[in-house]
Amino acid sequence: MPLPQSSPTPDGETQKLRQQLSELTAEAIHNEETFKRCHDREVSLLSAEGLPQLLDTLTKGMQASFSLHCIHLVLDDQDHELRHLLLNSGNSPENFQFVTFSDQIEKYSPVYHQLNMPWLGSYDSDNHQALFYGCGRIRSIALLPMIRRDSLVGVLHLGSDDPFRFTRHHASHFLQRLATIGAFCLESAANREHLVISGLTDVLTGLHNRRYLDGRLEEEVSRAKRYGNPLSCLFIDADHFKRVNDHHGHHAGDRVLREISLRVRECLRASDVATRFGGEEFALLLPQTGREEAFNLAERIRSQVWGYPILLESGEELRISVSIGVSQLSQTDPHQTGEQLLSDADSALYKAKRMGRNQVRAALPA
Ligand code: GH3
Ligand code: MG
Ligand code: MG
Repeated sequence: MPLPQSSPTPDGETQKLRQQLSELTAEAIHNEETFKRCHDREVSLLSAEGLPQLLDTLTKGMQASFSLHCIHLVLDDQDHELRHLLLNSGNSPENFQFVTFSDQIEKYSPVYHQLNMPWLGSYDSDNHQALFYGCGRIRSIALLPMIRRDSLVGVLHLGSDDPFRFTRHHASHFLQRLATIGAFCLESAANREHLVISGLTDVLTGLHNRRYLDGRLEEEVSRAKRYGNPLSCLFIDADHFKRVNDHHGHHAGDRVLREISLRVRECLRASDVATRFGGEEFALLLPQTGREEAFNLAERIRSQVWGYPILLESGEELRISVSIGVSQLSQTDPHQTGEQLLSDADSALYKAKRMGRNQVRAALPA
């Protein structure tokens, strides 16, 4: 009896269906895992408290939760805004080892060209080596563009040593959503930092205000003690400033204050903390600076202020001087507080005033 005509055989058909089913199941499991990881990441991105924490969540957090071999984040930072915001909150941009702040993100890599959706696929050393420099053996990668208001604000590079971890067939919309949320969080973290700064910045001079100093002072004191680094403080007060107001008006007084802060700022390093303490008084914290160096800096500031007259709007030129007190955090008394450091500089300033103004005086070593 002839066998019924069927091609392929029922057994072959079943096997093929089984194979398809198992592939679909594997794909579904993979997608579900990716979805869950992305969801967890989204929650932590949305709950990151500040810019530094957000950058860590986007990099180290992402690497840990996706078990990635390598991660890197390139951020558009044309105006150095992000770097300045980090410096302002006491964080050095260099400390974020997985983050590159780019002056021109479109030119960072040719593979960024038209990267408006996640790109998943095999690692190809010709095209991708520069993006995964120093990462060791990478087999598959995902490049996630972070887009906000139609412009590229960053790109996340995810690298895996598993060749099947990121392939063109994997669903990428979870990753795309994650990158979009990352871009949104980045923008709101930067806005939040701006708000914090505006509450901690003196409007007239653009220097930090006293509230900011209060926050930074003990932080710098404990850092100096922990690492055994010197820390100095300068207290600057404009001499006979009341006369400026009395003779030239309050507006001219404001202009003089702005000019003094500008000259002070020009003498400082990026790590120095300059604040308008109040009125015509300025307090400076100088990390990693000993008494002698601080004294020399104070002398430089004094001569920069006294050396060049200030041009008023009326066309008049005004010569103004400042008196400066210098103190250094004690290297023998571990209990000295930031407040004492400030009050030592204030006493030295008082001495400079008594001795005739337009001079620098240092507090005696504790
Ligand atoms: P000394 O050399 O002893 O420091 O004398 P001084 O005149 O500088 O000190 P005094 O404390 O007598 O006067 C400070 C003046 O600074 C009084 C105050 O009106 C003025 N001042 C404080 N804040 C501002 C400000 O924001 N703008 C202007 N224009 N003046 C201010
Ligand atoms: Mg004063
Ligand atoms: Mg004064």
